[in-house]
Amino acid sequence: MNGSLSLYEFYQKFPGEAEAVAFFEQKRWGDNIWCPHCGSEDTRRIPSQKPMPHRCRECRKHFSVRTGTVMAESRIPLHKWLLATYMLLTARKGVSSVQLAKELGVTQKTAWFLEHRIRRAMEHRGGLLSGEVEIDESYFGGKEKNKHESKRQHQGRGPVGKQPVVGIKERKGKVRAFPVAVTDKVHLQAAVIENVKRGSTVYSDQHPGYIGLKGYDHASVAHSVGEYVRGRVHTNGIESFWALLKRGYVGTHHWMSVKHLHRYVNEFAFRQNEGRDNSLHSIGKTIEGMIGCRMTYQELIS
Ligand SMILES: [Zn+2]
Repeated sequence: MNGSLSLYEFYQKFPGEAEAVAFFEQKRWGDNIWCPHCGSEDTRRIPSQKPMPHRCRECRKHFSVRTGTVMAESRIPLHKWLLATYMLLTARKGVSSVQLAKELGVTQKTAWFLEHRIRRAMEHRGGLLSGEVEIDESYFGGKEKNKHESKRQHQGRGPVGKQPVVGIKERKGKVRAFPVAVTDKVHLQAAVIENVKRGSTVYSDQHPGYIGLKGYDHASVAHSVGEYVRGRVHTNGIESFWALLKRGYVGTHHWMSVKHLHRYVNEFAFRQNEGRDNSLHSIGKTIEGMIGCRMTYQELIS
């Protein structure tokens, strides 16, 4: 299947709970169902045994496709999990918990928790970025109108009450973004080293934090004197990502708490990386991320 899945196609493919469960099971186990308690493949399907329709002959425990995943404690039907995942992947600017609650017929609190668990599932990180990569920092939180001013404060501290986020984008590939404590030399260079393959070409603006970066071919453009592109040297790719993230920030979520910012940022990066080619593929990728990953409500609000 090519291109994104329309809502009509989504409902054709997944008319109800049974099809959703089958999809989750296929993503988790393929054709060999194994017991999440002991790993044995000697299992039996007992469809009448809801909500645990599988039984392990070895350890004798019952389980479902949710057992040991981020969905384990949830009573939300998997069809709703699937629809929520579809919505999060499809909406370019994200989906607010209010909107999601309305679509799914659940409370806003339930929708909010659901969204965060899906975001957690999107947090899987690939290998190192390589080739030509662009790096840039941006600030989130606090008053939106100060954003441009704040971008000029290249002193490593950034504006008060705002969370610095570092974004790195392969010129022809993936973007990765995450909050950092401060945008000083230590944190910015660590961000490069931990995320970009040694020997790659790194393009940035003239933030002093990148000066002296070793092991990379580093070049910068001087935004402060109006230089934005010099041959191949520019940061336009990562800046488009910031623009999208900020439109989502203002238009959809209105406010992203600093505590959960990393998940929102990651959601936007994931959608940009995975959401473009094929929605069904992206849904599958997200579901694979849900498996073996846990998140409790307490953990989220503590
Ligand atoms: Zn077992």
